[in-house]
Amino acid sequence: MSEPQTCEVLIAGAGPAGLLLARRLAQAGVSVVVVDPLQDLRQAAFSSAALPLSAVTAFQLPAHVQAARWRGWQLHGPDDTPRHWMADHDLGAVLDFGALRQWLAEQAVAAGARLQLGWAVRGWHTASGGAIASLRGAGGQEQAVECRWLVDATGQRRALLGEPPAAAGALVAGAGVEWLIQVPQAQWQPWAQRLSFMLGSQWVPQGYGWVFPMQPGQLKIGVCRLHDARREQPPLHQLLRQLQHRLDLATAPVLDRHGGLIRSTIRRREPHQRGPLLGLGDAVSTGNLLGGEGIRHAMASSDVLAPLLLEALGGKLEALRGYAPMLRRRLGWRWSLSGRLARRTWLGLHNSAADQRLARLLEGLQQKSSAEELSALLFHYRFERYGLKALPYVLGWR
Ligand SMILES: Cc1cc2nc3c(=O)[nH]c(=O)nc-3n(C[C@H](O)[C@H](O)[C@H](O)COP(=O)(O)OP(=O)(O)OC[C@H]3O[C@@H](n4cnc5c(N)ncnc54)[C@H](O)[C@@H]3O)c2cc1C
Repeated sequence: MSEPQTCEVLIAGAGPAGLLLARRLAQAGVSVVVVDPLQDLRQAAFSSAALPLSAVTAFQLPAHVQAARWRGWQLHGPDDTPRHWMADHDLGAVLDFGALRQWLAEQAVAAGARLQLGWAVRGWHTASGGAIASLRGAGGQEQAVECRWLVDATGQRRALLGEPPAAAGALVAGAGVEWLIQVPQAQWQPWAQRLSFMLGSQWVPQGYGWVFPMQPGQLKIGVCRLHDARREQPPLHQLLRQLQHRLDLATAPVLDRHGGLIRSTIRRREPHQRGPLLGLGDAVSTGNLLGGEGIRHAMASSDVLAPLLLEALGGKLEALRGYAPMLRRRLGWRWSLSGRLARRTWLGLHNSAADQRLARLLEGLQQKSSAEELSALLFHYRFERYGLKALPYVLGWR
């Protein structure tokens, strides 16, 4: 191996979190390198990438990364009846996840960051004044990079931080499979402008199915469920096939197949730092299990870490002590509640009693809630509208 390269911050992972942090730091004049084993960030677009409009605005996401806008909800309950909630204005977007990563990468590079695609960080050790990371290229070539700070932004893999300690609470894991399909315009239309979910144990035991609109003529269809070691769970591909048949989408050509995991601790008490190593995004459990979403939370972690890391680079090392508590505050108390709710709701959804509870909940939502209120519930976790005392009943805890 040749002499190590040097930079101030080395970021492992060119996901939304790593790329946004790279941009923020590079804009402040820091020398940043981002490394990812992907050769092309437009490929392996594993995420459904549905977001509320507040996130689109907050992160100033341009039109070309938004495949479609949505303004309502369509929930198919255990009884198969679709219920609709539509607003008269947009409530969110479904992104093209590959285009989002590509745009974030271009922004980071334009700000001065260096992007090294086709390389993975394989290991690291502390060195005087920082860390030395070992990188491996797609062809097996090796490289060392010396940095003051190393950031694990490798998503739920946590390639550098490793699994959280037992004291942080168990990791709750959800697995998802999604296909991008091509449909005639007439078949696309009924799914346009809305997020559609299929809920109930006859659709997906211990999880849910979905259909999201992409650009005209394309839909994302997927299934996700929480992992339960105590039960035998049917293969996800089989559930996805059943969903396609029931929704009359089985003959549509499949343009792309992808999937992945979301894994988070509910309380988020894992260490966010180990010496010169910092965790970012899903690597420190920002992925939310309730709706299986985490892009905006991962990017929020970059917002929180960037100014603290700049202070640390300026010599104020103690600034980083504020990182984990500040991120917890940014995500808010509802975030943990939503995680607990996710575990209860999805893990319990495997019998007719749970289906009946769910049907009652959907009925109540249809009577009481507008599309905006449903968004506030599912994206902003505003459960208290139902009264905190009533909450355990709403959730089926009592
Ligand atoms: C099926 C599915 C559907 C989803 N749907 C939604 C949704 O609708 N809305 C939403 O907001 N979120 C959704 N999510 C979650 C969302 O995609 C993640 O929360 C988000 O991508 C996390 O961003 P991140 O930057 O922390 O990590 P990631 O996006 O996971 O990026 C991590 C990067 O690290 C790279 N990497 C891995 N190992 C190494 C290594 N050793 N060295 C260097 N790089 C490495 C990976 O290649 C990857 O590019 C979904 C996830 C899945 C699996």
